[in-house]
Amino acid sequence: MQRASHLVHLAVYKCGTAHWKRMLSSLVTEVSAGIGAAAGVGLMAGGFAYAAMWPGSEIFGQSLIAPMRPGELTLTFDDGPNPAWTPRLLDILAHHDVRATFFMVGSYATAEPELVRRIAAAGHLIGNHSWSHPNLALTSIDRVRNELAKTSEVLEDIVGAPVSFFRPPFGARRPSVLRIARSLGMVPVLWNAMTSDWSEQSAEAIVKRLTHSVDRLEARGWAANIVLHDGSHLDMGANRGPSIAAAGQLVARYKDSHRIVTLDAWGA
Ligand SMILES: [Zn+2]
Repeated sequence: MQRASHLVHLAVYKCGTAHWKRMLSSLVTEVSAGIGAAAGVGLMAGGFAYAAMWPGSEIFGQSLIAPMRPGELTLTFDDGPNPAWTPRLLDILAHHDVRATFFMVGSYATAEPELVRRIAAAGHLIGNHSWSHPNLALTSIDRVRNELAKTSEVLEDIVGAPVSFFRPPFGARRPSVLRIARSLGMVPVLWNAMTSDWSEQSAEAIVKRLTHSVDRLEARGWAANIVLHDGSHLDMGANRGPSIAAAGQLVARYKDSHRIVTLDAWGA
């Protein structure tokens, strides 16, 4: 289920074979240097997409996903701030007295500084989701550094506090992306509970799939790191009504039985 939903995620955002070929050629040097040429060839043959894109893969370096703490979950919201929907989400979270993490697109944050301040003032964590949401596995090192540094600079300027978490757009990364994030003082973060909420019209369908993931993770002893989208990298004011409603339903469902924590509870 989780694999299937992630593939949906990729299918929505990715293109075809040419995309992967480009990605392979741009990365073979780094992969070979990091783990040896023979293993690099093996990765090229079958495992490359897994290493670069699959949230659970640590072949390209460690990222924070979730600890073995059943009964804990964290809510993360990507691709905002969204002036049309993030305020509604903030009201819902405040109503339940729950804090979350917002992975923001830098160019959106700089256009909505008051909203960013409101999010931080409510006690939520602010994370870096790059300046323009490119696929960082395909982006030059200089641009990766620029995308991350500029976003942190703007966010820190707005909220007056360091940004300690980074989530790569699409989950796409390679060793240098994670190194650059760490050199800027950020922990790279992925997820273990996601569905295609950005294209789903029914909040109930989103909740059903995420609940299934959370319960399955819990049965295996894992905390849940849930991704929803309060924004869209394609449109700053995109309709996120179903995702926001789903967030409210999930919080209502889990707030008495689970500890809903922010990512700093799991490491920074
Ligand atoms: Zn994103």
